[in-house]
Amino acid sequence: MPDSASGSSSNQSRALTPAPAVSLAEYRNQGGFQAIERASASPGGGDSVLGEVRAARLRGRGGAGKLVADKWQAVRDAVAKRGGPPALVCNAYDADPRSLIAQTLLTRHPFLVIEGLALAAHAVGAREAYLYLRSSNREGYETMTSALTQARDAGVLPRLTVTLTGVDVGFMGGEESTMLQVLRGFRAMAAQRPPFPAQVGLNDLPTLVQNVETLAQVATVLRAGATAYLKTGSADTPGAKLITVIDASGKPTLVEATFGMTIADILAGAGASVTPATARAVVVGGPEGGALPPDAWSTPYDFAPLEDAGVIVGSGTIQVLPATTCMVKWASEQTEYLTKESCGKCIPCRTGTKRIATTLAGIISDVGNEGDLALLAEFADYVPDGSLCGFGWHATHGLKTAMRYFADDFKRHLAGQCPTGTCVPVRSHRYATKGVL
Ligand code: SF4
Repeated sequence: MPDSASGSSSNQSRALTPAPAVSLAEYRNQGGFQAIERASASPGGGDSVLGEVRAARLRGRGGAGKLVADKWQAVRDAVAKRGGPPALVCNAYDADPRSLIAQTLLTRHPFLVIEGLALAAHAVGAREAYLYLRSSNREGYETMTSALTQARDAGVLPRLTVTLTGVDVGFMGGEESTMLQVLRGFRAMAAQRPPFPAQVGLNDLPTLVQNVETLAQVATVLRAGATAYLKTGSADTPGAKLITVIDASGKPTLVEATFGMTIADILAGAGASVTPATARAVVVGGPEGGALPPDAWSTPYDFAPLEDAGVIVGSGTIQVLPATTCMVKWASEQTEYLTKESCGKCIPCRTGTKRIATTLAGIISDVGNEGDLALLAEFADYVPDGSLCGFGWHATHGLKTAMRYFADDFKRHLAGQCPTGTCVPVRSHRYATKGVL
């Protein structure tokens, strides 16, 4: 992987992801496709692949961090119960438009993705796969089309048909049930679960939906072996994660970090020079992530510690906020963005995010009062508790972390002063100065 930030002494060895390879010959020279050839030749169907992935304790990289083997087993159980063959959907849609993860994997590691797809399909018995990506990712589309043709001509994918589908339906396009709705030809809205895709998905068949980075890790696990893989990353999460680091000027850099590295080490590995004097906070998890102050930058990058700190792996981005950032304004802008991206299907998310946004706008505009803090705290729980999909469940991390770590910013705004002097109290200028409020 490019610009690797892995290799901290506390988290054993470097990530095992191979160097980029965009031609079949290059990939084969690295030992590519040996894992799928071995698996295809071994008796017992996909049992050996499933067993290796379970032994490696591989967790999904799409955000939730579920054990991949459990997901595969659920699909196999559903096939045994309801019939098959199952479908396979690879989520290569960077929901967060600032993320470089999917586009980099598709353009620099196309064969690694194809081998991961083939291994997952072999493990669950899928014959049809869909590669779902952003239509704006032209280079990824063309690179994958060429790589699939090369792989097919070389007889590497004898039993798998792969269809590329490019769409651009905003942030919600990356949500699992929304993706299946789009592939079925419906509007980009989330669907009620259960039934889960593993039970009833595309064409009413059991469907395995797997993030593109997870599939690349599947190929890495099968190539290196579970024993070697377990020596990388943290005790809870073996292996590495691609992370898009966005510095204070907005410049993104993709790094690969082994799980368990601290946020500060990852930032340093990406060349983002960050001190409390130059940065107010770092946002971990993308548009639905939360903001951490300097004394939390030593948090290990791993599912449980991030959750304890109030943030998420989410879209795999870490963004540096400049020292002049007012955190009330930041929470307001983040929530405004989410109000526009919500699919609007359920009330807690649709109206809850708007209520939060307008309340924050009021505080910024010097028309807030102490009661607003209680109202925001109530909505911060009401939205995730009542929402239908992951979008709503994570929509208030920004607000919650802003209120938890930067409570003084809210107090100062309620006292009529922006803590960094950067907010423009539009309504007070327009009305209060004329004596209306
Ligand atoms: S939580 Fe939000 S995005 Fe998800 S279904 Fe409800 S309205 Fe749509």
